Amino acid sequence: MSNASGVNPRTIAELVVQLGRIIHGSGYSGGLAPAQWSALRYLSRANRFSRTVSAFAEFHSTTRGTASQTVKGLVGLGYLSRNRSPRDGRSARLDVTDDARALLARDPSEDLVRAAGTLSATARNHLATGLERLLGYLAQRSGKRMFGVCTFCTHLEEERCQREEMTRFECTFFGELLEEAELEQICINFQPSEKSAMRRAYDRKSPS
Ligand code: SF4
Repeated sequence: MSNASGVNPRTIAELVVQLGRIIHGSGYSGGLAPAQWSALRYLSRANRFSRTVSAFAEFHSTTRGTASQTVKGLVGLGYLSRNRSPRDGRSARLDVTDDARALLARDPSEDLVRAAGTLSATARNHLATGLERLLGYLAQRSGKRMFGVCTFCTHLEEERCQREEMTRFECTFFGELLEEAELEQICINFQPSEKSAMRRAYDRKSPS
């Protein structure tokens, strides 16, 4: 599969597509369809600014109408609740219910998590960097939004408070303080910082 000049890029593309196909195919379980699993996964990982129908539509690369139907079905099944957003009273924030969390414990895509866990720490780091770069490149080419977490976002500010021996985290985009637990949640307004491999790939001039 590899030689002195490295693995053929086409082989990598085929492997990524094959992984996606397997995960998509495993999504017909628990009485749900793959798009519904995708919505539950996204909404259980998204931060409070990103748990909306339109954010899910962008994440899932689908239309707002299709995303709305997916969400409606999950609300009907008792897996999602619509709550008024405290920041913006006009929009509804979607929250996963306890039933959804119990279902997510049996998420078929957890097999992929377990498979990733069999790799060494070095292999995982290389793979994550490579996949991030692929995402950044494709986002740049297609003009699609990148999703990511605060720890790699340019809008995150950290301030160490010596007296209280704690670190204060703030999002300069939303102008709000963040809990430490929120730093690893997915955000629709993510802007990759210099330390993100996604940013380096996004900034690189792509071939025309
Ligand atoms: S720091 Fe970035 S990723 Fe985190 S909430 Fe703000 S915009 Fe979103």
